[in-house]
Amino acid sequence: METLLAQPRGFCAGVSRAIEIVEQALQIHGRPVYVYHEIVHNGYVVRDLANRGAVFVDDIDSIPPGSITVFSAHGVSNAIVSRARARQLRIIDATCPLVAKVHQQVQRYSRQGFEVVVIGDPGHDEVEGTLGAVDMPLHVVTTTADVDRLQLDPTRQHAYVTQTTLSPDDTRAIIDALQARYPQIEGPDLGDICYATLNRQRAVRELAAQVDVVLVVGARNSSNSNRLREVAAQCGVPAYLIEEASELEPVWLEGADIIGVTAGASAPEILVTALRERLVELGAGSERQLPGLRESVTFRLPQLHPREVA
Ligand code: SF4
Repeated sequence: METLLAQPRGFCAGVSRAIEIVEQALQIHGRPVYVYHEIVHNGYVVRDLANRGAVFVDDIDSIPPGSITVFSAHGVSNAIVSRARARQLRIIDATCPLVAKVHQQVQRYSRQGFEVVVIGDPGHDEVEGTLGAVDMPLHVVTTTADVDRLQLDPTRQHAYVTQTTLSPDDTRAIIDALQARYPQIEGPDLGDICYATLNRQRAVRELAAQVDVVLVVGARNSSNSNRLREVAAQCGVPAYLIEEASELEPVWLEGADIIGVTAGASAPEILVTALRERLVELGAGSERQLPGLRESVTFRLPQLHPREVA
């Protein structure tokens, strides 16, 4: 049995930046540093930072007034910013710049009077943040059936934006459906889907063509990790999403000669290493990594000495 590793896999620039922000905030300000929502969608990362003094909360009002508080990579709504302001929290914003770009698009469309549709998962933190980036209601669609049910105001101009971690193929179908119903609708086409999502999906497609089964390391609430599993499955191979090596079921490998491994953008390499070791225990005698693409994207850190509220 052989292990074949996708390239690129794992951390993207937005996730690396968000984690570094919390680490540096702990160094500069000491513990506790409060983090609103999971800094990235990965239980290992969250537990590791919690052990070092980060306190993760889902209710902004539970943070003591004046505390150092980090907003997660997924971004937050205006309402959360206002409540943070009311509590005089000292904010360090770890929103990925590529998510912030989508917020700016929505705000621009809103200022211009457009009725806006967000393509994405309504339960995901990023979409919640995008919906709350403006003070007017937006529509969310996840499928083409949702587009069929849309009732946009015919007297207004229409626009759409997308979540950053979607599958381009699924998103293409939804954009086509929107354009069929609302031919004048404006939007970024697939331009909101981030480089890391596109690169990891391309890599898993290449991987799936050469293996008998694909294992995706990532959290169940990680959008881009779920998309990786779906893309691999669409290529016709069994594909499983696992949070860590202990979730691997040996029965999945029965009859398989080549096991493909990749990881979502919020999954640390240490979890991939543990899975590779588990595969060796289960009989993987060799390992290769696909050449893939080398990523060089980095994002600058924000102001880490907040003197005033956001
Ligand atoms: Fe940013 Fe894309 Fe990473 Fe999300 S997956 S944090 S949008 S680079």
